[in-house]
Amino acid sequence: MSRLNEILLARIANDGPISVADYMVECLLHPEYGYYSRRDPFGTAGDFTTAPEISQMFGELLGLWVAQCWIDRGQPASFTFAELGPGRGTLMADAWRATKGVPGFHAAANPVLVEASEHLRAVQQTTLAEIDVGWVTSIEELPEAPLFLLANEFFDALPIQQFIRHENGWAERLIGTGKDGLCFGQGSARHVPALEHRLGDTKSGDMVEICPAAHAVLQDVSDRINAHGGAALIVDYGDWHSLGDTLQALKSHETVDVLHQPGQADLTAHVDFEALALAAPDLSHSRLTPQGIFLQRLGIDQRAEVLARNLSGASLASHLAAHHRLTASDEMGTLFKALALYAPHSSPPPGFKS
Ligand code: SAH
Repeated sequence: MSRLNEILLARIANDGPISVADYMVECLLHPEYGYYSRRDPFGTAGDFTTAPEISQMFGELLGLWVAQCWIDRGQPASFTFAELGPGRGTLMADAWRATKGVPGFHAAANPVLVEASEHLRAVQQTTLAEIDVGWVTSIEELPEAPLFLLANEFFDALPIQQFIRHENGWAERLIGTGKDGLCFGQGSARHVPALEHRLGDTKSGDMVEICPAAHAVLQDVSDRINAHGGAALIVDYGDWHSLGDTLQALKSHETVDVLHQPGQADLTAHVDFEALALAAPDLSHSRLTPQGIFLQRLGIDQRAEVLARNLSGASLASHLAAHHRLTASDEMGTLFKALALYAPHSSPPPGFKS
């Protein structure tokens, strides 16, 4: 039995069942045994691969997206270039290299990474050794300045709560203990104000998810962009309006039981993009756009062609496969979506249609 499993069983024995959100926080960020606290989970040898690890084109195009937004919003002389949950730091490295030629951009940018894991922070320090970047643990610590922000596969790692609709209210899905260890159960049904707006599109027995942590992050982003200007780009898997149980555990590129071996597998939930937009009512939001279409509008096909000219054999084949993987609708092209948030009364950022 893993050490974290024992810790959770003891906690539940003492305090009673825990929420899915509490479970996710412990599994992902427990200082000693949490998934992100102990390892570098990315890449083919890890448990999952993310877009910036698949091809340099992803970070390059997102970097140029930020540069174009900065230009369109009057080139503020000093701004925060933030990334939420930067993993290995690959996206920022590619974004920074790609924007080298944009006059004045590097001089005005203050790159800051928001990272909760000490372990991944050390990995990012190595990847970004050449760049003068800063780190903060949470978004409230970002400087008060115009904010241009990127978040790829960050929101899916934030803790969610799950609720099941009953005739007389919502019962929270909880994690308790049974004869075989950790098991799912339910609290008693109650009135949940945050789910009032889901009464119209759900019926008894349906499960819905909320992510209070995402709500708090978006409120902070919204306050900063409203006060100082800027824009935010969120790329993740999920949909406009989520319904059902989307919690999943991934280990060695395979789905595994969520309660089996806590801390040893990545835990994620689909992102409810509508909830993100609702958490920032003072900002405008773009249309939710499939990643493939978004990257194509930013010029991924042309960039892929330029890079292909210098490649041959196995490296050419892997470059072509990466391009396909990021954009094709049977790969990440449709499952992943992009959403931009920006100050009202301005046109949507690059890659989005009004
Ligand atoms: N964006 C990267 C990594 C995605 S994995 C990529 O695309 O490759 C999720 C990242 O978010 C990790 O860096 C993880 O340590 C970080 N993270 C998870 N929860 C966090 C939290 N509450 N606050 C800050 N960072 C967090």
